[in-house]
Amino acid sequence: MNSSVSATKAPRLGPLGAEPPLFDTAIMFQESLHRYAEEVMRPIGVALDRMTPEQVVATDSPYWEARRKFVELGFGVELLLSFEPAERAKMMSILFEELGWGDSGLAISFGAGMLPMYMCAALGRTDLLARYPDAMLGCWGITEPDHGSDSLDPNRKIFHPEGQYGRPNCVAQIFDDEIVINGQKSAWVSNGTIAKVCVLYCAADTGSGPDAQRGCVVIVPLEAKGVSRGKPLDKLGQRALNQGEVFFDNVRIPKDHLLAGPDDFLNAVEIIHTAANGLMGAVFTGVARAAYELALDYAHERKQGGVPIIRHQSVAHRLFHMFRKVEASRALTHRAIHYNFGDTPALHVAMTSKITGTQTSFEVSSEALQIFGGNGLTREYPIEKLLRDARASLIEDGCNEILAIKGGYLLIDPDRL
Ligand SMILES: Cc1cc2nc3c(=O)[nH]c(=O)nc-3n(C[C@H](O)[C@H](O)[C@H](O)COP(=O)(O)OP(=O)(O)OC[C@H]3O[C@@H](n4cnc5c(N)ncnc54)[C@H](O)[C@@H]3O)c2cc1C
Repeated sequence: MNSSVSATKAPRLGPLGAEPPLFDTAIMFQESLHRYAEEVMRPIGVALDRMTPEQVVATDSPYWEARRKFVELGFGVELLLSFEPAERAKMMSILFEELGWGDSGLAISFGAGMLPMYMCAALGRTDLLARYPDAMLGCWGITEPDHGSDSLDPNRKIFHPEGQYGRPNCVAQIFDDEIVINGQKSAWVSNGTIAKVCVLYCAADTGSGPDAQRGCVVIVPLEAKGVSRGKPLDKLGQRALNQGEVFFDNVRIPKDHLLAGPDDFLNAVEIIHTAANGLMGAVFTGVARAAYELALDYAHERKQGGVPIIRHQSVAHRLFHMFRKVEASRALTHRAIHYNFGDTPALHVAMTSKITGTQTSFEVSSEALQIFGGNGLTREYPIEKLLRDARASLIEDGCNEILAIKGGYLLIDPDRL
């Protein structure tokens, strides 16, 4: 026996690593989600990755089977919000980590699909929640062709001092009894060409011209007259995730679909951004875990120098740091989500989750590819897909560098300046 390798077998960890014991409902929840992620999402995610964006959303696409089976699991907004905050935080962390482990493109599709309902619930609009239930696929329209990072900085905290915002690409005119929407959202809207309902964030015009800082949030049923869609977007990673423009041509929506008016707009951006950034951390912890597990298995199977490559010190060292990063990402993500279900949710806490989870997924999938050697570069093995999926996450839901600048400004205590 090689004396450099200990004969002691380390304790085997559970699927969520060094997780403290879970309560019974959470164990059942994790087990059924993991089964779904493994048996449905993984194979369908790989198949969708190889299709054209049009094929991904065609009526005979396996996307719809994955979506139907996810809805059948019944883990929607109403169920999740019925738990008390600590349990809800744990369940949501598990839900999104397992979905991310299965396929991050599908995970984001299902997560973004819940956002209109989530915002109705968060703003106490149970009347709208009843009309647009969980099973209806949703989307979040905020980014515009001319306003990407700008859209996530509505209070202009990181806006260049010499900058001009220019024209918003989408404007909602707010009248006494209705809202009239004109313009478009960008090709980056997740589920953009297939969603049935949109939680639309856009500039508001209450009579004195469009104002993107004092915008509004409207629930828009996407079968409404005047709504049309763009072409499904073709992109590097998360190819199972449909994205595309939503166009609005004099779309008339009843006034009761206004979730937030100009006075509440900044708060509404913060609420959705806090929820989305927190959960993104969990999705991409799942991607990092998937890459780590695949690399660990491969390192036991692949032999070089006459031994499984895990017996080579640099491979074991690399795997340990991958394991450590996944553990750190999960711990921080769960903590941020838990904190933000408390009385004082904080956007900069959610940003720690998003940046850590996505950066970890990118680093760990890149390390995993190195462990697979040349095989890692081929489409015969699952690693190059994970790396492409992870790469997209550094931009999605706010470029990580933008989030860090904004998050840094949120640390400033004006009373101490
Ligand atoms: C997979 C994916 C899913 C997405 N899903 C959705 C969705 O569901 N709904 C939706 O509305 N949008 C969605 N988006 C859009 C996403 O939010 C934007 O792509 C993101 O906010 C960045 O905007 P942009 O792509 O226009 O880049 P830009 O804003 O054009 O940024 C380009 C570069 O300039 C830098 N930069 C920009 N502004 C500043 C600044 N003020 N200071 C310093 N540097 C700056 C950025 O860091 C970046 O490197 C998604 C994007 C992706 C990739």
